[in-house]
Amino acid sequence: MRKPLIAGNWKLNGNWQLCQHFISKAAPEIIGGESGQAEVVICPPAVYLAKFSSAIAAASSVLKLGAQDVSAETSGAYTGEYSADMLEDSGVQYGIVGHSERREIYAETDGLVAQKVQRLLQTSVRPIVCVGENLAQREAGQEFTVIEAQLASLSGVLEGDNPNIKSVVIAYEPIWAIGTGKTASSEQAQEVHAHIRAIMARYIDVGELRIIYGGSVKPDNAAALLAMPDVDGALVGGASLNVEQLLSIAHEA
Ligand code: PEP
Repeated sequence: MRKPLIAGNWKLNGNWQLCQHFISKAAPEIIGGESGQAEVVICPPAVYLAKFSSAIAAASSVLKLGAQDVSAETSGAYTGEYSADMLEDSGVQYGIVGHSERREIYAETDGLVAQKVQRLLQTSVRPIVCVGENLAQREAGQEFTVIEAQLASLSGVLEGDNPNIKSVVIAYEPIWAIGTGKTASSEQAQEVHAHIRAIMARYIDVGELRIIYGGSVKPDNAAALLAMPDVDGALVGGASLNVEQLLSIAHEA
């Protein structure tokens, strides 16, 4: 049985007041178990992670924390970067890597993404690896080929007997559905998720592998998406800035 994962990616949004609001609203509900069986993860801007982590602990909440990125390096002269070890030290449990905005705006390659996954796997921080096709690729019927290549680049880091490998989460995020209000239909999501599971079976045991969907997930479309057998949760952008909306999505999981 795979525990559903609902992760909220705040991107470059929010402030300390919003962090506190989430802790006061979400923490009691999640402690009370009313959000069902889902694991709920907030990914605020990195500057808030350590303080957020302390506040979550003080509230005895089971709310979890994720980072939106990580350095591919461990230390050294890399201004502005932060390492997987630093995330672990800050009380972070998950790290998003390969988000399409990082790939498109900051030209992150599959190779760099794989290196970041490797760094996270050397710590207790669980990678959430984003893959997905853009609109032109979808219209050309290339979505499976694109995703297969993105996943193939991870093959090297998924080898060996590192027990953390089984903590990897894949997020299928069709780029045409991110922030656009367009969502993949539940059937489209299921089709790609099943394909991802089949590809990942070449590298790891996929029985426990969580594959989550991202792309304009909202309270009103979450139920249908999360009901699909291979959709194990959601990566939520815009709607994750509203605690009621995020919890309502989590209730559907
Ligand atoms: C995202 O950026 O990962 C995302 C899914 O955003 P939104 O939910 O706003 O489409």
